[in-house]
Amino acid sequence: MSGNAAQVEFSRENLENVLKRRFFFAPAFEIYGGVSGLYDYGPPGCSFQANVIDIWRKHFVLEEDMLEVDTTMLTPYEVLKTSGHVDKFSDDMCRDLKTGEIFRADHLVEEVLESRLKGDKQARGLVSDADSDAKEDADKKKRKKKVKEIKAVKLDDEVVKEYESVLAKIDGYNGDQLGELMVKYNIGNPVTGEPLEAPKAFNLMFETAIGPSGQLKGYLRPETAQGQFLNFNKLYDFNNLKMPFASAAIGKSFRNEISPRAGLLRVREFLMAEIEHFVDPEDKKHERFHEVSDVKLSFLPSTVQESGSTTPIETTIGEAVKSGLVDNETLGYFIARIYQFLVKIGVDPKRCRFRQHMANEMAHYATDCWDAELQTSYGWVECVGCADRSAYDLTVHANKTKEKLVVRQKLDEPITVTKYELDLEKKKFGPKFRKNAPLVEEWLTSRSQDELVKLKEELSSNGKITFKIPEIEDQIELDNTFIAIEQRTKVEHVREYTPNVIEPSFGIGRIIYSIFEHTFWSRAEATERAVLSFPPIVAPTKVLLVPLSNSKELQPIVKEISRTLRKEQIPFKVDDSGASIGKRYARNDELGTPFGVTIDFESVEDGSVTLRERDSTKQVRGEVKDIIKAIREITYNNISWEEGTKDLKPFETKVDEE
Ligand code: AMP
Repeated sequence: MSGNAAQVEFSRENLENVLKRRFFFAPAFEIYGGVSGLYDYGPPGCSFQANVIDIWRKHFVLEEDMLEVDTTMLTPYEVLKTSGHVDKFSDDMCRDLKTGEIFRADHLVEEVLESRLKGDKQARGLVSDADSDAKEDADKKKRKKKVKEIKAVKLDDEVVKEYESVLAKIDGYNGDQLGELMVKYNIGNPVTGEPLEAPKAFNLMFETAIGPSGQLKGYLRPETAQGQFLNFNKLYDFNNLKMPFASAAIGKSFRNEISPRAGLLRVREFLMAEIEHFVDPEDKKHERFHEVSDVKLSFLPSTVQESGSTTPIETTIGEAVKSGLVDNETLGYFIARIYQFLVKIGVDPKRCRFRQHMANEMAHYATDCWDAELQTSYGWVECVGCADRSAYDLTVHANKTKEKLVVRQKLDEPITVTKYELDLEKKKFGPKFRKNAPLVEEWLTSRSQDELVKLKEELSSNGKITFKIPEIEDQIELDNTFIAIEQRTKVEHVREYTPNVIEPSFGIGRIIYSIFEHTFWSRAEATERAVLSFPPIVAPTKVLLVPLSNSKELQPIVKEISRTLRKEQIPFKVDDSGASIGKRYARNDELGTPFGVTIDFESVEDGSVTLRERDSTKQVRGEVKDIIKAIREITYNNISWEEGTKDLKPFETKVDEE
């Protein structure tokens, strides 16, 4: 689609008005006052989402032959305890003890430092008050009560540098570090300036009880991943024991976000689409990597962020993997495929970057992790996470359930393997540890080879080992009457390993909202005429049928075209209201409808109709069947407007834009 060069500057307020007025989405329970972070999608939002999901399925599940599952949202406590979510799935919050207000610590530090930097710019005359006022969006105005007005105060150059450096690393601080920053930079309640309580971890999961007794504690899942890990053996079996393979799931997840603002970007119930690609830890090559190796991307490595900069590196994914910037081919393959998917559904490639997690931010088990971030008026927003989660998830669930979650690969040639093995004097564990005995045994049997080496050294030099387990208060001590660690050599005919997992995880709502921002513009000649330039493939409605007048003569043609479009399953709407054609098209530009078909009195005579393209407002004329063919080709076969309409006659009269 050809864009219109003369555009008016983006206004979030205007976009929000359109999205609300045309019911793309709206606050849930609105007539009851609404609940923040909960939204309902209206008809165009619903179709748009369905189209995005349809393309996601084709782009990933179909194209990559993935195994889709639909697993439950209600999840028992044990599962999420084992996965680490009960203990660790939290954000840091701080409370104002006087007003009871609660702030998310990282967001608070970020907002306050950003507003001080803006104030500094104003004081230096780099941004005029008028400019910054004009840019202040509706959302900020609404939040005025919460965010202190920007004061034009000049900061020392050193302080500016320090703030910029903190902001570049903001995703990498833990709760204690955020607390230290709040003290160091005197960050309190942004309105009253009063100090706040130190940051405290707040678990984001919604707790519930399963069944009438209330004894089976559970949670609404915070991600779809666990259901996929738990079905590993069935999926591996379904895949005829072939590796590597991927599972995929699309479904709702729930997170009790601390202070959800920013519309669809931070909500408490959202649609996720996740892939778990299971791969041999010793071979993370990808057989289709060559197909994407030339894809050029914008990377923001952890080292760049840690140095206090946010300047990305532009390079191909092939180079990024070769140089070791991206850990392995499979991770790199998915990063490139994520990018291709995003661009296909309407993301502006210039506003998409891949940010690597910093050491602090990355889960301890992850080998590497990159977020696809999309630039919006709220800043750069993480829309897709892509992590190499190593063997963590399958290992912890296997240890907990004693169900092996492994791949057994028959070896062509037997191999000799030397391994450290643990011998436990199990009958002595019960009397010593009582009900904690299984916990101690489980801890010991889940040690890695490296850990066993260290324990063996400790055992031979001290005659005992000592360690702590989170669930047991006291330190545990075991002497060599309880435990022995021996190195043994065996001949193996089968290699058994726990697969590693590469996980691309998509937040559909975030992607959708970013596309709304990336495709929204207003016509320079009439700023109130807004357009959403969706790629036709994701547009909620593809065609608007507009009879020139209400004349009875035109109706049979409208009916006939409607019948054909319905038969061809091309979503369309008829607008036979009395409004001018220009108004009718404008209403549909706002809905992102890419094509308009005008039926006029000439149509009655020669069966020809006019086809109008939304962005350029170019028009062509031809027979109905040729016009529909062009619509189909452009919408579903990725053909350009020029190519798709090359056999149709250009139509110069601009009646429709009057
Ligand atoms: P995570 O598991 O935290 O990496 O999240 C995976 C993806 O889910 C992110 O990349 C987001 O797109 C999306 N996501 C996470 N939290 C939210 C939220 N509160 N609202 C909307 N989308 C979210």
